Amino acid sequence: MTTHKTRMLILGSGPAGLSAAIYGARAGMEPIVVQGIQPGGQLTTTTDVENYPGFRDVIQGPWLMEEMQAQAEHVGTRMIWDQITSVDLSQRPFRLIGDGGDVYEGETLVIATGAQAKWLGLPSETHLRGKGVSACATCDGFFYRGKKVAVIGGGNTAVEEALYLTNHSPDVTLIHRRDSLRAEKILQERLFKHPNIKVLWNTAVEHFVGGGEPEGLVALDLKNTVTGEKSRLDIDGGFVAIGHAPATELFRGHLALDEDGYLIVEKGGTRTNVPGVFGCGDVADKTYRQAVTAAGTGCMAALDAERFLAEAEFEAEQASEAA
Ligand code: FAD
Ligand code: NAP
Repeated sequence: MTTHKTRMLILGSGPAGLSAAIYGARAGMEPIVVQGIQPGGQLTTTTDVENYPGFRDVIQGPWLMEEMQAQAEHVGTRMIWDQITSVDLSQRPFRLIGDGGDVYEGETLVIATGAQAKWLGLPSETHLRGKGVSACATCDGFFYRGKKVAVIGGGNTAVEEALYLTNHSPDVTLIHRRDSLRAEKILQERLFKHPNIKVLWNTAVEHFVGGGEPEGLVALDLKNTVTGEKSRLDIDGGFVAIGHAPATELFRGHLALDEDGYLIVEKGGTRTNVPGVFGCGDVADKTYRQAVTAAGTGCMAALDAERFLAEAEFEAEQASEAA
């Protein structure tokens, strides 16, 4: 069992955590990144990334994250492969415990634990993920130009994804398990008016059907949730949009979370309700959820943490001089 001490402890090694590390290291904060069970974060689960600035050609998600990690290490970040299982934020330095019992003490704490898309939980969905089944239209919609796509869900995300997909697809179907949407009215109006979107009400997906060579999604097996009637919808792309789960269970009772479990940070900044603790990336963002926005807020968190510590150290110095 080891105790690791740092001026900036970062939880998460996705774009937010690694960007915070790059800025923190260059500011002399000697950060430690606790990588978690998914080193590199969500982008390691995808292939083509076409919207991260700086690359004219398509790049691969895992490669981008390897480069980010290498850059963070190159400027002085220490990476530790561990998963934090408990936190004590009642005083500084903050004290966190890893899976194997290691102790992490941070003068400041940057939380970049991300958020994971929720899935329906069907084995065929897991099997065809990345082969026609996706949970991110902004990321993958482009690959379905001119093709038939479906979005599953009835909230804001589902409606926004359906509308977004009309930029690429002439034939978008929204599939919802009930007979009314929970999305905001203005989004619903835009959805219903759109000539390229149709809605299948009271419909659940029972199976994602694969086919072709190489194998990809070709259809959805559906069931009417009221009549029980079964049907098949031929489709090229299926987007599951049934919500996201931010990785904040660890902080429940320690930090302010909103009604969906997202970390609450100050508007336009990264401060949480505990001084010295900062939140960035998807864990504090239910609107944008992109690699570039995660990286941007990661930078902000590092700058905020560095300023916080400089002020705290200055105040401590003044107090000890006055004593
Ligand atoms: P994440 O990438 O989710 O990283 C979270 C990190 O926290 C992980 O390293 C995890 O191990 C760590 N962690 C979690 N809990 C703990 C813990 N208790 N202790 C320690 N560490 C912990 N965005 C784009 O801009 N372009 C795209 O093309 C694109 N494609 C995507 C494709 C897919 C399939 C998916 C799922 C997402 C895609 N996204 C894309 C979205 C993008 O990946 C996310 O917006 C981005 O990764 C969020 O970064 P993050 O650093 O906030 O969190
Ligand atoms: P959400 O509001 O929780 O909606 C999830 C949708 O998925 C619901 O319609 C739900 O159906 C459906 N669903 C859940 N589990 C399902 C399952 N197993 N099978 C089939 N359908 C299932 O999630 P969200 O749309 O991602 O939004 C999350 C939060 O972010 C909300 O607060 C939302 O307002 C916010 N958000 C805001 C914006 C914006 O302001 N522009 C954009 C996106 C998200 P039921 O309706 O039957 O429960």
